Parts: sequence; structure tokens; C-alpha cells
Amino acid sequence: MSDYKSGLEYALEQDRNDELKLYRNQFHIPKDAHGDDLIYMTGNSLGLQPKTTKTYVNQELEDWATLGVEGHFEAKNPWLPYHEFLTESMAKIVGAKPIEVVVMNTLTANLHFMMVSFYQPTKTRYKILIESDAFPSDKYAVESQLRHHGFDDKEGLILWKPHNDEELLNYEDLELILKEHGDEIALIMIGGVNYYTGQYFDLKRITELGHKHGCKVGFDCAHGAGNVALNLHDSGADFAVWCTYKYLNSGPGSLAGCFIHERHAYNKNLNRFTGWWSHNKETRFNMRGEFDQLPGAEGWQLSNPPILSMAAIKASLDLFHEVGIEKLTEKSKKLTGYFEFLLKQLGEDIIRIITPSNPNERGCQLSIQVKNADKSLHNKLTEAGVISDWREPDVIRCAPTPFYNSFEDVYKLVEKLKAILK
Ligand SMILES: *Cc1c(COP(=O)(O)O)cnc(C)c1O
Repeated sequence: MSDYKSGLEYALEQDRNDELKLYRNQFHIPKDAHGDDLIYMTGNSLGLQPKTTKTYVNQELEDWATLGVEGHFEAKNPWLPYHEFLTESMAKIVGAKPIEVVVMNTLTANLHFMMVSFYQPTKTRYKILIESDAFPSDKYAVESQLRHHGFDDKEGLILWKPHNDEELLNYEDLELILKEHGDEIALIMIGGVNYYTGQYFDLKRITELGHKHGCKVGFDCAHGAGNVALNLHDSGADFAVWCTYKYLNSGPGSLAGCFIHERHAYNKNLNRFTGWWSHNKETRFNMRGEFDQLPGAEGWQLSNPPILSMAAIKASLDLFHEVGIEKLTEKSKKLTGYFEFLLKQLGEDIIRIITPSNPNERGCQLSIQVKNADKSLHNKLTEAGVISDWREPDVIRCAPTPFYNSFEDVYKLVEKLKAILK
């Protein structure tokens, strides 16, 4: 990995040899005022639109126009089982079995529904452990669950914190917390890849540790799904949730994914909120009688889902299915390593990379701290045609995604950063 070279020629050569190079052309790349491609580094925030998405969505509009309600059965992709067309590809992306995965609702909503089932506090075991720099929505969600069950949202929340002047979390600290408070903790809920630092946690290690202490363990994989090979089944986690509009390129506010481990698939005693879509498919439309729980992750659905949004997800998942998450992560590691190599050449006194340097502890995002920088640096980058993400006080997040970013993108980004810093 250390045989990276500087210079544009090297970047172009890497692009020529890139097995996935043709996929860039399968996405709409946003353009500047001159019609040139912008350097899009925010696939971690909103993934780009596959060119096939329009066709997939139009198919459903067309079937709705011509078939009306009959589209539930007669559409080219019948709407009644439409969510099932997504399951297998989605399960592969997150390393799960099909029975463990469903696409439904939105991310924070799914997190709450998972806590209805997997946050079952008692008088003595009621605390929730999260990482100290969790995504705000996750923090708000777990705090509100504590309040909902009558607990104090400060006293009931345990934070896994980095050491002073550090950003990354370490497992020894987590072990210490569990040693001291393990029997008070009902749920461990961690962002599988931290949105801010890009740190990709060892999900299996955290799960084993949590289970050893009798805690339930869940992950928010919004920054992991489509970015790293999550292996959710093997992690043993009780549940996981993620959105599809970041690395999964399924459109703003699109539906979210949900994983519930196989060992809970047939447990009808697990508390949950239900609706007609969690009811046995065979008898759902009898509209009478006793509730009959669907097994597996599907049994957590409530409503008949929005097909237009699912069509956009299907367009994207078909691309993922074609390439496979393994090839994507392989390119991702090369591209991110190259990005790191170029940044380091700018001088480690000016640039500090917060994200772990170990390729197995990160995805494609690098969070960059620039000495004495303020938001004007981000604004200048934007003017120079780089779409990146700024976070106060001094961090720029860039995510070169393997699907549509090139080595040339990364080269140009660093050249522009260099010019601005001069
Ligand atoms: C993006 C993101 C969210 C956003 O939640 P929505 O319900 O989709 O608005 C929440 N949590 C994490 C960790 C995220 O990365």
C-alpha cells in the first residue's frame, strides 16, 4: 500500500487500471457553472444519483397511471411484495441473512422501534451507553427513550469518551466502563462508523463485551452501510439500523434499513409496536381476527411502504449487487490510502488526520483538521469546486467513494487544498 506516488500521471494511471472505472459514468456528477464535474466528496452525506434511478421510478409512476390499485398485484414489480425485491441485495451489503433485514421507515424512526424491543429497562438495569460524539439524532433518540421510561436522561446515559485531546475511542475504556457499570446498562447503542471521526468500530468485539455483561447491543450503521463490509450477522449484534441516502445512493430522505439478528426472528414475546404490515402475509387482507406475527425483520414493519422511494433504492442496490461490496471496499482502501498519502505530504504540522490510519478501522472518509483553519477554508474549497463537509471548529470531512470518485478527484482535491493553504 505504501507504493503510492505523487503527481497527476500516477492518479490517471490508477484510474486507467481501476476495475470499477466505468461506474463513475453510471452516476450523475454535479457540475460547476462551466459544466465541469465538481469534486464531490460528500457521498457520506448524500450519495449521488445513479442514472438508472429515473427509469426505475418512472416504471412505478407508469404502472400507477395505467393500473391504479391493481398495481399492487399487476405492476411489473408488484407493489405488495416490493420490499422483498430489496432484501437479498441489502442483506449482502450489510453481511446479514435475508430473514434479518428489512427496508422500512426512516433511520431515527427505526432506531426508536428497535429500542421498543431491545431497550427493556428494569429498576436496576436501565442505563444506555453511547459514544460521546454520537450523531445528535441518536443521542436525542436514546435520551427520549430514557425519559419515556421515567428515567433521568443525564443520569441514565453513560458516555464512552476519548481521552483528553484525542478523538478516537479505545476499547480498554469501554471494558472499564462495563466492568464498573455493566450490570446497570440495559443497552449499548454505538454508531458503527462514527460520523465525525470516521472510526469504524469492531462490532463483534463490542457485542461480545456487551453480551458478557448482560446488555443488549445495537448499532447505527448510517455511515457504515455501503461503505464498509459490516458482517452484521457475525457481529452477533441484536439490531442495527442505517439510512440509504448516504453511501447507498438512494435519494434524499429515502427509506432506511433495519437488521434484527436471526436469534430474535421467531420470538413472538419480544415487545414491539405492530401494524398490519407486521401481520402474516397470507391472512393480512382478511382484515379480521387475531394478530399473527410475521417472523424475521419483516415482522417489525408497520405500514405499506412508499414504492417510489423503494424504486430508487432498487436502482442503487442493483448496482451494488452487480459490483459487490468486496470490490467496492477493495478500491475504497486504495483510494483512501492514496488520499492519506497525499495529505501527509502537505506536512503533518499543518494537517492532522483524525480518522484512524489503520485501513481496517475506517471506511472511505477522512476527517481532516487543518491548523489555524476556520470556515473560510471550507468556503474557498467550495469556490474551487470541491464539495466537502465542514464541522466546527476546524474539521473538514471528505469521503472519496469507490463507486464514483476517481484517483484524479483525490489528486485535484489535494492540489486545490495546497493552493488555498499557500
Ligand atoms: C445521517 C444520520 C442520521 C440521520 O437520521 P435520519 O433519521 O435519517 O434523519 C442519524 N444518525 C446517524 C448516525 C447518521 O449518520
